[in-house]
Amino acid sequence: MDRLYRVLLVEDELYDAELNIREIKKILPNSVFERVDCKNAFIKMIETYFPDIIISDYNMPSFDGLSALKIASEICPATPFIVVTGSINEDTAVDCMKAGATDYVLKDSLKRLGSSVLNALEQSKIRKERMDAFKTIQLNETKYRYMFHSNPQPMWIYDVETLAFLEVNEAALKHYGYTQEEFLLMNLKDILPKNEIERLLDNTDTSDYQHINTDEWTHKKKNGELFSVEIVSYFIIFHQRNARHVLINDITERKKAEEKLIRERKLLRTLIDNLPVTIYVKDAECRKIIANRADMEVIGAKTEEEVLGKTDMEIFSNDIGARGYADDKRLIETGIPVLNKEEFFYDANGIQHWLLTSKIPLTDENGKITGLVGIGHHITEQRKMQAELVEAKEKAEESDRLKSAFLANMSHEIRTPLNSIIGFSELLDDPDFDSDRKSEFIKHIVDNGNSLLMIISDIMDFSMLEAGQLKLRQQPISVKKIMNELFSEYSHKAETRGIQLRFDDSQNDPDIMITSDSYRIKQVFNNLIGNSLKFTSEGFIEIGYKAKGEEIEFHVKDSGIGISPKFHQAIFERFRQVDTTKSRKYGGNGLGLAISKNLVQLLGGKIWLKSEPNQYSDFFFTIPI
Ligand code: ADP
Repeated sequence: MDRLYRVLLVEDELYDAELNIREIKKILPNSVFERVDCKNAFIKMIETYFPDIIISDYNMPSFDGLSALKIASEICPATPFIVVTGSINEDTAVDCMKAGATDYVLKDSLKRLGSSVLNALEQSKIRKERMDAFKTIQLNETKYRYMFHSNPQPMWIYDVETLAFLEVNEAALKHYGYTQEEFLLMNLKDILPKNEIERLLDNTDTSDYQHINTDEWTHKKKNGELFSVEIVSYFIIFHQRNARHVLINDITERKKAEEKLIRERKLLRTLIDNLPVTIYVKDAECRKIIANRADMEVIGAKTEEEVLGKTDMEIFSNDIGARGYADDKRLIETGIPVLNKEEFFYDANGIQHWLLTSKIPLTDENGKITGLVGIGHHITEQRKMQAELVEAKEKAEESDRLKSAFLANMSHEIRTPLNSIIGFSELLDDPDFDSDRKSEFIKHIVDNGNSLLMIISDIMDFSMLEAGQLKLRQQPISVKKIMNELFSEYSHKAETRGIQLRFDDSQNDPDIMITSDSYRIKQVFNNLIGNSLKFTSEGFIEIGYKAKGEEIEFHVKDSGIGISPKFHQAIFERFRQVDTTKSRKYGGNGLGLAISKNLVQLLGGKIWLKSEPNQYSDFFFTIPI
């Protein structure tokens, strides 16, 4: 024992004190001593000297051992107290021990004092340790009370095998509406609604005791009210039982708020998905974070996931992507919105869509641009309508122009033969002309009369066709016969103009009979051959036909001025002529091909042409057999 021990001697006799010191020093050479012999000095020493052990005489003139013992057990109960006395009877010894003395030693056997002191110090040490342990327990209990029972967080401990509650705190009792007695008579199942009990049983079967569990449950209060909780639990040993300490968080409000948020999000989503405009949101890197259904349709994506996180460059792999990305980037950098920009896209089927797009920057609370929101209105139909309107306007203007040209033509086409007829008729009266000249005049009158008749019948036919009034006279006819008649009718006319009329019968069967209107077929031929004669100054005109399946294909070809491809459709429209200038070289009213087209269609066939300008024109038309 190396440490320094403070020894307090309560002794009036100096000599006895010395004897005591000598004995103690044998055992505790490091000890120091103080001596007192009255009450006041004793109390003062205890309070200032803090003795490790007190050695007291039993009988003193102004003090006594028992009183000292009583004072010591009040002020410093842990300090060992040894009574040293000259004589002691048994009662005194019992009194001393009862009053808390550690030991007593007779002056006769003072040699025992050393070992007695040693024992007392040892016992005191043990007692002190016990006291410390007791204090720790007491402290822990206070802490436990504070941390468990008074904790505002509802909590309990339950037995993992029986599910019985072993401990519950005030907050939990208050929240669930039970008294402590009621609560501790229940088990976990009693605070769960039916549907949760099954889950609990599954859960406890499989749960690993040693892990911290976090989970959401529905719990039931004493009054039957259900509420949502989030629990955290962990394994503990409680009174030698396997148990779990459970912390309960009422999340009913949070859940309600979450559900409300989900409902609102759903509503918003339904709204934006059902709007007929494209709506999307992009982040500061121009990546899509929201795309509504209309937007996905424009992109040609089936799910939103296909486009989320991607820029336009990644979504559209062409110029459209570069265009969109450049706009987005500029907007993010400058904050200047894109307003009402007409843009086109191609959907999954390659169909072009036009959108009127506006993009607006999104900012955070500090005004920093965090992304953009884009809206696109479909304007494909409007654009189509606009184009149709423009086309209709152009058509109306063209039609107006054509009508004017037609009227000018007509007046020319009608006046010319009429003037001839009137002029030559007047000359017939003139006696200056002989009968030869007069028969020449009559021929002119007849020719011009025929021209006039043709023009008038063209107009009549066209009006009838337009009004759907023209009736066909269907009867069996020989194609070859028609062709022969046409040939003999026109070969002379052609010859007089230095053109050869030829009949291409290379591919013809001996004869084909069809049921149709021969008069109208001939009328079509008359128009086509008439045009060929008009527009061919040298070379040939060829007529022919061949059977093609259920149809006969007729054709009239010439080596005339030909027709530029851009007029191949237009010349079949009424009043259409390639040359519409006033100084037209060739006559005509622009009705012949329109009438022919209508007639062929009425007969059940179609009409078209092949031609090379300055080389040839080849008109084809079909008639069903
Ligand atoms: P038109 O009375 O003016 O001949 P058509 O309807 O018969 O009226 O023909 C319309 C236009 O088609 C003609 O004005 C002419 O410009 C062109 N055309 C028709 N047939 C021929 C042809 N065989 N060769 C060249 N141009 C032709």
